[in-house]
Amino acid sequence: MENRIESIKKQLHSQSYKLTPQREATVRVLLEREEDHLSAEDVYLLVKDKAPEIGLATVYRTLELLTELKIVDKINFGDGVSRYDLRKEGADHFHHHLVCIECGAVDEIQEDLLGDVEQIVEKDWNFKVKDHRLTFHGICYRCHDKVETSMEQEVTTK
Ligand SMILES: [Zn+2]
Ligand SMILES: [Zn+2]
Ligand SMILES: [Zn+2]
Repeated sequence: MENRIESIKKQLHSQSYKLTPQREATVRVLLEREEDHLSAEDVYLLVKDKAPEIGLATVYRTLELLTELKIVDKINFGDGVSRYDLRKEGADHFHHHLVCIECGAVDEIQEDLLGDVEQIVEKDWNFKVKDHRLTFHGICYRCHDKVETSMEQEVTTK
């Protein structure tokens, strides 16, 4: 965690920004909840525990700054809420997401599966790919298992 803070600090410095205590509190929340996809309000409530004096506007501005510096990616899963997702260290492109339409779970695929697609886009469209968003909507393995077990139960009770 301290290493990540240090490298984010460097990223900010290289763009002449300081890691102020408020910014650091925000970054820490994002690191602690790296698996989650928090909205600005979610982040704000968590940051408030660490730094009660902080305001929503400050958190919001920090998130926008981190997005601009590509430390964080902003994503919307179709519910109209912007969520903030820490960019994995060393990742050139944004990871993929699996959004379950049954339970709302969001799983991540870290491996970039779009290599071939990117080549087609670059070749056929003469378009230099810098990044992408890929979100799959469907039924997650947890919900899938649930359906199967309940079907099995139905069969055995008959
Ligand atoms: Zn993610
Ligand atoms: Zn890619
Ligand atoms: Zn599910």
